[in-house]
Order: sequence, then C-alpha cells, then structure tokens
Amino acid sequence: MQNRWNDAEAQAFCDRYRAHGEAMALRVYASRLLGADPALVLHGGGNTSVKTTAKDLLGRTIDVLCVKGSGSDLAAVEPAGLPAVRLSPLRELRALPSLGDQAMVDAVRGALLDSKAPNPSVETLLHAFLPHAFVDHTHADAILALTDQPDGEALVRACFHDDVVSLPWIMPGFPLAKAVADAFERAPGCQGIVLRQHGLFTFGATARASYERTIALVDRAERFVRQRVGDAPAMLRGAPAPLPAAERAAALARFLPILRGALATPTQGPCGPGWRRVVADARVDDVAANFAAHPDARALCATNPVTPDHVLRTKGPYVFLTRAQAADAEAVRAEVAAYVARYRAYHAAHAARCANELLLPTPVVAVIEGVGLVACQDTRKAARIAADVAARSLVVKATAHALGRYQPLGDAELAEMEFWPLELAKLGAPQAPPLQGQIALVTGAAGAIGVGIVEALLAAGACVFATDRDGDRLDKALARFGGQKGQLATATADVTDATAVVGLFAACCRAFGGVDVVVPNAGIAHVSTLAEMDPARFAKALEVNTTGTMLVLKEAARVFAAQRTGGSVVVQASKNAFAPGAGFGAYSASKAAALQLARIAALEFAPLGVTVNAINADAVFGDDDAPSLLWQEVGPERMRARGLDAAGLRAFYRERSLLKTTVLPRHVGEAVVFFASAKTPTTGAVLPVDGGLPEAFPR
Ligand SMILES: [Zn+2]
Repeated sequence: MQNRWNDAEAQAFCDRYRAHGEAMALRVYASRLLGADPALVLHGGGNTSVKTTAKDLLGRTIDVLCVKGSGSDLAAVEPAGLPAVRLSPLRELRALPSLGDQAMVDAVRGALLDSKAPNPSVETLLHAFLPHAFVDHTHADAILALTDQPDGEALVRACFHDDVVSLPWIMPGFPLAKAVADAFERAPGCQGIVLRQHGLFTFGATARASYERTIALVDRAERFVRQRVGDAPAMLRGAPAPLPAAERAAALARFLPILRGALATPTQGPCGPGWRRVVADARVDDVAANFAAHPDARALCATNPVTPDHVLRTKGPYVFLTRAQAADAEAVRAEVAAYVARYRAYHAAHAARCANELLLPTPVVAVIEGVGLVACQDTRKAARIAADVAARSLVVKATAHALGRYQPLGDAELAEMEFWPLELAKLGAPQAPPLQGQIALVTGAAGAIGVGIVEALLAAGACVFATDRDGDRLDKALARFGGQKGQLATATADVTDATAVVGLFAACCRAFGGVDVVVPNAGIAHVSTLAEMDPARFAKALEVNTTGTMLVLKEAARVFAAQRTGGSVVVQASKNAFAPGAGFGAYSASKAAALQLARIAALEFAPLGVTVNAINADAVFGDDDAPSLLWQEVGPERMRARGLDAAGLRAFYRERSLLKTTVLPRHVGEAVVFFASAKTPTTGAVLPVDGGLPEAFPR
C-alpha cells in the first residue's frame, strides 16, 4: 500500500482552498488520496471528517464537525461535500441509551449550519463521538480479506497485535457510533479500529497523521495476507485456464443479448406490455476470467458481499453461468428465475427487519465461466459502478478464500443494511428518462441528421452506439458529446459490408449488452438525370441506401430474437420516396426501396414485438462540425439553378414549407425518440419531418 502524501500537493490544496482554512483544505486533500485508491474505497464508499470552528450568526466561535455528505465521492470531494454540523449538540446524544434512525437524521440535519447542505453521512455521530480532529473510514480490501473469516478476530490479533481495537459487525448509525467511542476509550493508545466484515477507522490530530495510519495499517494487513497467500491467490492464477483472451469478446457478443433479455422485467407500457431493460458493463481481463474459470467460483458467487456497503450496488450474491448455460436462453432464464426465487425468500425470511419494500429481485452481477463478469443495471453509470465493485470483490473473495474460509456478513444483518431506509436514500430516486435502459445503434452518425438523432437519444437516457464509415468525421461530429462518454460508444463500419455489419452489432452488444433501437440512417446522394446516369454511381446509391439498410435490418432481427424483449427500428427514408425530383433518380429510387424494406420489416418483426417505422425528413443542413453530405452534394447545383447563396438556399427551403420553419437535425432525433418510446401502438408508418410539404404527404 503506497503512501501518496506529497507536501507540495498538500500545499497546492491549501492555496486553492485558502478561503476554507487549512484544516478543510488538507481534509479535502487527504480524502481525495483515500478516494483515489480503489484498494481502499470505491464509488462513494467510506467517509472522512474534520473538527474545526466556525462563526455563528452572533459572531461567536463554535466547534463544528465537517463530515462527508451523502452523494459525495471521496475521490472528487469538495469542501461543499463536507457539510458542517454543530459539534456539541451531537456529542450530547451519546448519553442516550438508544436513538432511532429517523430521530438521528433529524438531530444531525438540525445541527447543520447550512439548511440546504446535503445529508451528512450516516456515520456522523461516530465521527462526532471520537475526540480526534481528523477521522478516516475506508473499506480496505486487505482488511476485508482478513476479517471476512470465521476466525477474523484471531487473524486481526495475529496481524496487528494490540495496535488496533477489533469490533464485530454492528449496525451503522447510533449503535456503531457508541461502540466505537467506547472501544477507543478502553484503548486510547490504539492506532485504529477494525470493524470486522466492514472496514477500518483511523484518526489523528492532523490530516496527514490520520491518513498515514490508514496506509500503515492497510499495508500491514496486505503484507500479512501476502505472506500466507502469496502474490496472487490460487483462484487468480489461471488454473484451470480461462477462455483465451482473444475469444472473450466474441463470447460476450454472443452471451450478453441473451442474458440482458433474461434480466429485463415485464412492465405495463403505454400501449400494452413493455420492458424495464438493463444496460450491461462487462469485465473480461485476466483476473476476472481466471476467477470465473476456477471450480470454486460458483460457490463464491453465491456468497454475500465483502462489505455490506456494496449490497446497494451489486445485491448480495452474483449469478454464475457456465459457458454452455450462457449460450442457451432457456438455461439463462432458469438460473435467473432461481436467483429471483432465492432473493424473494431472503426478503421474506428477514422481512421483520426490513423497513422497505422488495427491490427489483433480478441479479445485478453475472459471472460467466472462464470469461469474466457482467454487471447489469438501469443506467450505464450504475452498471459501471457495479462492475467496478464486483471486479474488486472477486479479488477480495479469492484472497479471503485462500487465507482461510471466506465468511462475510450473514443474511439477517445484510438484509437489515440492504433495506435500511438510510442506505437506500444514498441511491436517490430520480425520475427515469423515457429511454432509460435502452440501447440504440445509429448508422451514418457523422452526418447532420445522425448527430441530431444521437443528441436526442442521449437526452432521452438511451445508451447510443454511433457508427459511420468515416471515423475522422465521426469523431469531429460527436466531439460535442464528450461529457457523455459512458453512455456513448462509437465504431467505424461500412454498411454495405455484410461482415462489417455483423461486427457492428457484436461490438454494440459487447459495449452495452444488446440493442433495442436500430436507426438505419447511413445514406448517400447522387445527382444525375437518367439520360446521363453513370450506372456505377446508381449501383452505389442502391448499395448504400437499400442494401445497407437491408443488412442492418437483417442483423437487428438476429439480436432482437436473442433478447426477446421487443424493440424498435426507425428507418431514415426521404421525402423523395413520395415526392421524387428530376435528376434524383438514384437517390429517390434507392430511398423508396429502403422505405419498402421498412414496411416488409414491420410485417416480419411484429412477432418479435419490434415496431418498424420510417422518417421522411427534408432540408436538414446541419452545422460546420456535422454538415449534411446530401446537401454538400446537392447544394451547389441547387444554388446555381436558383441563383442563391448558402444562406439564401436555406431560406428558400424554409419558406417553401407550410410551417415556414427550419428543420433541424434534433427534430429528426425527436421523431426517433417518439417511436422508440413506444407510446403509441404504431408500426409500418411514415412520419414526415419536413415543415409540411403537400406533395410529400404520406400516401
Ligand atoms: Zn463503512
């Protein structure tokens, strides 16, 4: 365990947060050091505090505790993420024999200096009752490997002798706060308090002292474990061998749509049955694959988490699938059903201790034999967090298994945490956007309309797999979505290449778990009268606009069938399909054929629960970073014919429409979102997005 404290960095924090005082600046710095090491805490886990002073309204100096608030992540915490509470009224609570959760929350919120501050940590009283200026709490891997054991107490003693106090599991909140304060007073010379099957508390007069105690204690635990287990525990050494690394990606592409389909929950949609879908994030590195190849993996997957904090992210047990099972939809569904039955029984058995309703009973994490792990959640972010937590947990479980016998917290205590209102409050309950859990594949995403579609789908909460033939154009066009990296993935492929289209869908399945919304949008234009037509150019338009659409529809059908959770296809046709123009034979005929393919798909995909509709857009020009290729091709000739410049041409098309409106790429995107939302039972339809053109009215 590396001590990352650096005086120059610490000074930089003092300079940056001068207005907040040195104690807070160093508190922020040390908190971030802890948060930066995944072997100490992950994704919002752990908490820290500093005791300092503040001025009240009358200008009097009062003692305050600044403690991590709910929703903050130690790795990126700011002073505002450590809200200040008055210390003395909280300390007085220690005299109480007991204190209910809601009363505790009320007392802590009532002590806040800023009524708009986030809820202080559920461990606020623990931080308040300890006398030290700085207190750090982590869920260090090495401490968990040592204490998730039947003889955890003896192992702590063997490792740390009398340098730490070791406590058994105690429910967080008031009981744990009192127990830790009592334990410290019995052994005031201790360097830290180990909470078995939970984590570690350290403390000190300075931020550095408390931080360095954490590092020193965790380092001792790591060395102790390494002496007994070696550099890598037996389960992670690759015997028996996992699937070769080169084959894992292909395995994922095959398995994930099946798994994702089995994890979707039927719902009542606006027009009949719908689905609550999940998004996947997979880990197939050697560590995950080696674990998943070991004969003991199935048993360890069935165990509870390494620290109860993780239950919110991953649930307790994971599901384990052999590769043969993972390839078989019925087998996967049977394993998921068995998991759901066990989860319901677990909830029922401990219902008396559960303050909350049953959460969604499907598993979050699946481990696939010799391949790795997959986390599935409502959002990409939640899936990534669950995958990160599960990936570390596999290592801790394998280490504990090698050290002795992995024994985490039991079901009764875990259920108490899992359904604890104060824990659930950490997750919040934001309104789900309309396409949350859905995965969209968009071709031709570098063009003007493509960007508008990607933009609208992202805003609607979908994960988007955006593709184009031209990688440089794609990067340039999508640079505007840089902040949505986790929800957006890209790939280059030519839709006229059947093998490339198969690869595209496989890559989308690996990235997100499957496909629900398919938008064949790639297209090219060619302007020529029939008399002057170059047959090769005509064939090319057919190849991209018609054959390309067909190839995408063909592969979409295969993935939809594997998932069995319906979906939607929105084909980008053209107003030219109904209102052709002279000199536009190649484009109009190939787009009309694509529209006819969409109608055929509506007939053929209906049994899969998949709707297929088309959009006829017109006069969408785009912007400098994503100009319309169509208009780059067509525009100069049109400008010449009408004697207009670029701005004049746009104005001409605006004034030509019934609504006298400029059609924007985002308008086309909103039409895609409408169909993908399945708010009406509509298939085989054409929706014009053209400002109103009578000659192009659908018929
Ligand atoms: Zn904790």
